Amino acid sequence: MRNRSGALLTAASQASIRRAITPASTTTAQALAIASALHAPASLRLTAAFTRMDEAPLHPRLRRFGFDLASGGLAVGRGVHGVATSRCLHCGRAADSVAHFLGECDYLRPLRPWLQSVWRALRWPEPTPAEDQRSFALFAAYRWTPRRADEIAFIVLHGAVLAACRAARYHLTQTSLALPANRIVRAAQTQMEHHIRLDWHCATSTDCLPDDLSASVRPTSRLAFFERWGCLCQFAHGALEFDARVCP
Ligand SMILES: [Zn+2]
Repeated sequence: MRNRSGALLTAASQASIRRAITPASTTTAQALAIASALHAPASLRLTAAFTRMDEAPLHPRLRRFGFDLASGGLAVGRGVHGVATSRCLHCGRAADSVAHFLGECDYLRPLRPWLQSVWRALRWPEPTPAEDQRSFALFAAYRWTPRRADEIAFIVLHGAVLAACRAARYHLTQTSLALPANRIVRAAQTQMEHHIRLDWHCATSTDCLPDDLSASVRPTSRLAFFERWGCLCQFAHGALEFDARVCP
């Protein structure tokens, strides 16, 4: 299958990214400072978290953003091109930082009820990573939660959250304006819908290339597709119909 925007990755593109991002090189003082500021639990292993991000079957731009969040590579404050203040551009109450962006600021708050509703629609174990802001921050930065279910769907949901965080972040730093709450949530929904549609394509078509990494993570039958996503969509009248949590 061809690579599409926000979509599938070939083995070659995965390898390319892997060469550019090596987990061993990223446990820096900045990464440790972010983990400390987010009160990361003792059970969280940063190198393992970086490896998980490195290997996640997500679009490179999302993996890059996720990696930058956790490793300290994300430009903040005056380090952002064109930004002349070190304060948060949304609330101004604190210095701009990853820990403030994910764990303190109200900017991403609209994502939490969305994340919680999708988590519960998927009938995954409680608590959800949206119970409080620290849990949300740990999920966004490290894909860490005390409980989880279907690993691939879990990665997809994390990718949707990353897409929303990325859209919100860049809109703010590039325009100095906050992305409206409904557009933050919509960015997550769009990412999730896109992934599920491609899963459906793989489950119902035979044109996936054998060297496509997606072959190992995409459902290969309708049954497998609906086991993963049946709580969020159905096939009716010749097309996929999505739950309003994914496609309002
Ligand atoms: Zn703020």
